[in-house]
Amino acid sequence: MSAQIISGKEISAIYREKLAEKIRQYPSENMPVLAVILVGDDEASKIYVRNKKKAAAEVGIGCEVMEFSSTIGENALLEVIDELNDNPHINGIIVQLPLPKTLNSLKILSRIRPEKDVDGFSPYNTGLLSYNHPDALISATPKGVLELLLSTGIELEGKSAVVVGRSNIVGKPMAMLLTNHNCTVTLAHSKTGNLPDIVSQADIVVAACGRAKLIKAEWLKDGAVVVDVGINRMDGKLCGDVDFEAAKEKAAFITPVPGGVGPMTVAMLLENTFAAFCRQQSAQACDYGNHQCGCGKCCP
Ligand code: NAD
Repeated sequence: MSAQIISGKEISAIYREKLAEKIRQYPSENMPVLAVILVGDDEASKIYVRNKKKAAAEVGIGCEVMEFSSTIGENALLEVIDELNDNPHINGIIVQLPLPKTLNSLKILSRIRPEKDVDGFSPYNTGLLSYNHPDALISATPKGVLELLLSTGIELEGKSAVVVGRSNIVGKPMAMLLTNHNCTVTLAHSKTGNLPDIVSQADIVVAACGRAKLIKAEWLKDGAVVVDVGINRMDGKLCGDVDFEAAKEKAAFITPVPGGVGPMTVAMLLENTFAAFCRQQSAQACDYGNHQCGCGKCCP
């Protein structure tokens, strides 16, 4: 039987609508604001930033995009981040990756104050995630993947999961998040020798390696849940890291590319921005009294 398709497009629309509803509770002069730092001329980055800005506007989040030439110096960029950190009207700050090679990404990302680090890429928030701490701002893509898995209704506890890819922004936080949800996790990567065997043991497969259609249907366990993070181009068409057409005949649930993880990533970034906004509000003795962000820190 063919797999059930997990539509990130539909699920993210529900999240965004709920978020817009929560934001409407606030007076319009006090809306959450996200600052996006874009360095250089990477065409894909420009498209991602445009999409984030549009999605933010749709839910009522302000979005200030700051563009810089790829020749900007590290100190100048750090100063920009310091100003945004100190600006009380900015609730979240993200730096669109990849940065030009002349800039030290770790140093730049670490400069964002943890409570404004809505991409969750800083070592501090990654550390909180590894502690399964409720204050962690969790990297949007893994967080979106988790929501897609939960949407299937399957019990995660005790399941064996494989994450293919160990990047700091997707693979590693994904493995931590699944571990925190009591999965038994294998983190596979480019040096993993027996990938087909490892994938064949898994109840849950998260593919995040950026290799078009690498994961074959015959590797999958019958009834596996497959989430495809990859975005690749093959013969002029977008495709994921999973051979979708064949894999959907073996899996119980599977995400498409496009329309799977991508829209969830944007929705989770907006959720993180709203959560950061709410925490900053409650820290400043809020007097609206009806916040509904669900973070447990706002007004009762
Ligand atoms: P990355 O290039 O930083 O990391 C890729 C990882 O895959 C590495 O850890 C590498 O070891 C592993 N890998 C490479 N070849 C492999 C192989 N043959 N077998 C096993 N592992 C292998 O990439 P990233 O930033 O983590 O992104 C991964 C993919 O996800 C890319 O296609 C990217 O475009 C996509 N992505 C999508 C979203 C989204 O919102 N949908 C967000 C982020 C990234």
